[in-house]
Amino acid sequence: MQLDFKNKKALVRVDFNVPLNNNFEITDDTRIQAAIPTIKHILDQGGSVILMSHLGRPQKQKMEDGSLNIKKFTLRHLVNHLSELLGISVKFCPDSVGPEAQKMATSIKSGEVLLLENTRFYPGEEKGDEAYAKQLAQLADVYVNDAFGTAHRAHASTTLVAQFFSKDKKTFGFLMDAEITNANKVLNNPNRPLTAIVGGAKVSDKILLLERLLDFVDNLIVGGGMAYTFIKAQGGDIGKSLVEEDKLDLAIKLLAKARDKKVSLLLPVDSYIADDFKNDAQRKLVDSNNIPDGWMGLDIGEQAIDTFKGVIYNSKTLLWNGPMGVFEFSNFANGTKAIAEAVAEATAKGAFSLVGGGDSVAAVNQMNLADKVSYVSTGGGAMLEFLEGKELPGIKAMKA
Ligand code: AMP
Repeated sequence: MQLDFKNKKALVRVDFNVPLNNNFEITDDTRIQAAIPTIKHILDQGGSVILMSHLGRPQKQKMEDGSLNIKKFTLRHLVNHLSELLGISVKFCPDSVGPEAQKMATSIKSGEVLLLENTRFYPGEEKGDEAYAKQLAQLADVYVNDAFGTAHRAHASTTLVAQFFSKDKKTFGFLMDAEITNANKVLNNPNRPLTAIVGGAKVSDKILLLERLLDFVDNLIVGGGMAYTFIKAQGGDIGKSLVEEDKLDLAIKLLAKARDKKVSLLLPVDSYIADDFKNDAQRKLVDSNNIPDGWMGLDIGEQAIDTFKGVIYNSKTLLWNGPMGVFEFSNFANGTKAIAEAVAEATAKGAFSLVGGGDSVAAVNQMNLADKVSYVSTGGGAMLEFLEGKELPGIKAMKA
């Protein structure tokens, strides 16, 4: 961060959208932890920090009488934990703009942290309302955006607010910088071979990603539920595996594009199949294009694991988005586990590996492999859009 924060009030957009249990206790503080270096840096330089974030979807989950469910969505739930992590007592403002926020923002001193209330309590946040963004901007001298997870949204606190700060008064935080730098290691001049591993439930969620990847990867491994749409498109029998009938033509087009671009597109040749969508269903190993009626593929098979591993070990750059099977079921988590381990091993041998996107991140965390890959992205949708080649509004706004 190039800004000088001495005696400055920094308005810092973080992504504190953490999961809470029924007692409003934080069940996973990864996102808070990820913002700590930026906050500490500003404090160490002699600045003060005004934090803003959203939590959940309060506008969509209102009370029966139409009012906001403040008890559920207040950021007050985070104050104690944040204070512990920072080792100072964090102040809380029960509003994000207005007289009270102005008063508290004016009175905080260097070394202090003020957490504003959930920005989504104002409908203007998600609508990208300029007037709301301006009120937020008036609270501080400089703006820091460290919320990569929401950088793909043109919301007031993630994007519009930036226009009220000149270029020398705004900057990305450390997390945002790291996300962009690491994604660019895959996108710009990667060491080759470059292999993308894409899994998860649906082709439709990842069409743009797949299309774009085919322009620059050497190998594209497709696993998870989405593989069966490709296998069916090639004439395979897939039983009652997940399929998107309206994407069969697209699958054919993607296969043709891979041939044109000389990309090796690998599908799982075999699968572990189940007679029901549950962990303790009957389980069999069969060829992926010969799945009997009434059965569904829930994980990649042994031969697929071997082939995929071989490609992964030979790669110098790896991008992984989406699990290879229903890894939430322990009996069908093996393929995802094997791939996670292979990515970790390739990394140990010198490859650069980026794990981006919700469920593959959950998988590497579940398997305790997060520190054995080069970088684990905190932004699911944002990372996906970045890799698709879109300019994210939250990033663009900082350059203007
Ligand atoms: P995504 O969010 O698109 O990455 O999808 C992740 C979800 O895909 C996880 O909840 C997995 O359980 C699910 N998934 C992966 N493989 C399969 C499969 N073969 N059949 C059904 N669901 C799957």
